[in-house]
Amino acid sequence: MKRRSGHRARLTLSPNQVAKLDEQAHAARALWNLLHEWWTLLPKHKRTLAAANAAIRQARKDIDWLAVLPAQAAQAVLRTYHQAWTNCWKGLACAPNFKARFRTPMSVDITQERRMRIVRVHRRWGMVTIPKVGRVRFRWTRDLPIGRHADEGNRVTGARLIKDALGWHIAFRVQTAHLRPGVHPGPEVGIDLGIAVPLALSDGTEFHHGDWLNDKEKATLLCLEQHAARRKQHHKPGEKTSRRLQHTYDQMAGLRARAKRRALDWQHKTTTDIAERYGTVVVEALKITNMVASARGTVDQPGKNVAQKRGLNRSISAESWGRMIGMLAYKTVRRGGTLHKVPAPGTSQRCSACGATTPGSRQSQARFVCKNTGCGWSGNADHNAARNILHLYRIGLVAVPAAGRCSRQAHKRVKPATAR
Ligand SMILES: [Zn+2]
Repeated sequence: MKRRSGHRARLTLSPNQVAKLDEQAHAARALWNLLHEWWTLLPKHKRTLAAANAAIRQARKDIDWLAVLPAQAAQAVLRTYHQAWTNCWKGLACAPNFKARFRTPMSVDITQERRMRIVRVHRRWGMVTIPKVGRVRFRWTRDLPIGRHADEGNRVTGARLIKDALGWHIAFRVQTAHLRPGVHPGPEVGIDLGIAVPLALSDGTEFHHGDWLNDKEKATLLCLEQHAARRKQHHKPGEKTSRRLQHTYDQMAGLRARAKRRALDWQHKTTTDIAERYGTVVVEALKITNMVASARGTVDQPGKNVAQKRGLNRSISAESWGRMIGMLAYKTVRRGGTLHKVPAPGTSQRCSACGATTPGSRQSQARFVCKNTGCGWSGNADHNAARNILHLYRIGLVAVPAAGRCSRQAHKRVKPATAR
């Protein structure tokens, strides 16, 4: 069983090499934009991969600044662009569009593994060749299948260079061969995703995390944000951003990237832990895009509690539930387990002992006391929701995502009802 994964490592580059890679990335983005313009202006029956390939070759001859981009990277732009259309035709994504200079993450593709000549030179360092840049060092944090460790099943198939707030990174495309995992013997578990308690499990376990930035870092970030806001008051539309303001933006991006890294680290550790322990994991099928919709309303009918909703939306977005579910999905499969999604409505209002939804049962954010006569179950509200989620799976109410980009879930009974 072949498994394809990515491994990301930080590159050590000189300022000159950074400038060269920046140039390449801008050329790749410009090539995408040229390609998109060419493609959309062409009549539909003439839009073929071969024609696009020929057009790119011609463009590389005619336009001087496109030559900074290695030929293989230019081919990769075409492949990615075509894949974007294929995904659109399948209904998985929206149609590709132009890439803006400042909003697009900078990246360059390396398609030929053998020209990268990856070697390990030190316990902590590896070396790799980047086309038109040369030999560079990268942090060695995980063993890659190279040299005598490489074979048909286990190898590096390529890489992509990506720039973020911390500089240029290399993401290796790694292919490894594995035995198909046996069925995970672990128990079933329902998970309630929340804000006060990020993860509450139906067996009573809770996963918590602190703030991603410490007090000093938060104060620095606030100070930078205020500084940027003050500077922006004097900024005229269309004027170039001053170097000082740009520097402030970079510092802010650096701090936010640090917070994101810590959040990712926590999510990876937590999801790995869950996937190792449980054989069947059940989560809610959340429509996160709908949940974080603004309460602003229209000019004629302005919404209520807009600021509160904005704060809630930020908290929901900060928890990155979608990313967490994505991680759980592949991690459970790798260990022979399964991930299921059940319809979300009512799971936090219903009593998990008697199954009744009685008004006033949820007493506060944390406390649930069943108001149904003769029941009176009480406990943590998130724990109650997690138990409900597991119960929905056990009675066979599993949400099957509808085909296409539409995220509306179709509910379908897949298992006969069993006793609670
Ligand atoms: Zn009850």
